[in-house]
Amino acid sequence: MTHRDDHDHDNHLDPMDARVRALETILGAKGLIDPGSIDVIVDTYQNRIGPQNGARVVAKAWHDPDYADWLKLDATAAIASLGFTGRQGEHMRAVFNGPQTHNLVVCTLCSCYPWSVLGLPPVWYKSPPYRSRAVIDPRGVLAEFGVSLNEDVRIRVWDSTAELRYLVVPMRPAGTENYSEEALAALVTRDSMIGTGLVDIGT
Ligand code: FE
Repeated sequence: MTHRDDHDHDNHLDPMDARVRALETILGAKGLIDPGSIDVIVDTYQNRIGPQNGARVVAKAWHDPDYADWLKLDATAAIASLGFTGRQGEHMRAVFNGPQTHNLVVCTLCSCYPWSVLGLPPVWYKSPPYRSRAVIDPRGVLAEFGVSLNEDVRIRVWDSTAELRYLVVPMRPAGTENYSEEALAALVTRDSMIGTGLVDIGT
C-alpha cells in the first residue's frame, strides 16, 4: 500500500462516496430512509461536533495531570472517554507543546483531520499552499497566522493520514492557575489545536 492509499480524499467524490450517494438516492426513492435523518448527520458534523470538543480535551489535560498522562499514552482512549469518537477520530495522537517545542499539523496529500474533536477542517487546511508550505517553511506559515516563536523553539510538523490524526495540546497560559476546567476550555481555539495558533488570555 502506498502512502497515498492511506489517505481519505475528502475533497473528491471517491468510489465509496459515489456508492453512498447512489444508495442514499435509491433508499430515499423507495421510502426506506428518511432524507431528514441524513440531514441530521450532516448537521452533526457541521454544527454540533466542533472545536469545543477538542477544547474540552485540552482543558481536562491542563486541569488533571493523570488525564494528561493518559492522553500522551493513548489519545484515542482518553478522548473516547469523554464521548468523542467516530469518523476520522478512530486513531488519535496528542502532541504537547512546550517551552522548547511547538507542534504543527498538516495533511500534505489531502485533508485528513480529527473530525471527532475539531469538526470539519477549515478551507485553508485543505489548500495546496498550506499543505506544501507547512512542511517547507513552517516558521513562515506560523508568522502569517500571527504566531512568532523564539528562534530556539523547535517546530515539529506532523503529517496526518487516514490511520492517524493529531491533536495539538497547546501550552496553558500563565495566569490561569485558578481557572475552572470550563473557563480553561473557553480559551482554547481551533487553530491552537492545529498548531497555527497559541492560547492566551485577555486578547
Ligand atoms: Fe489526508
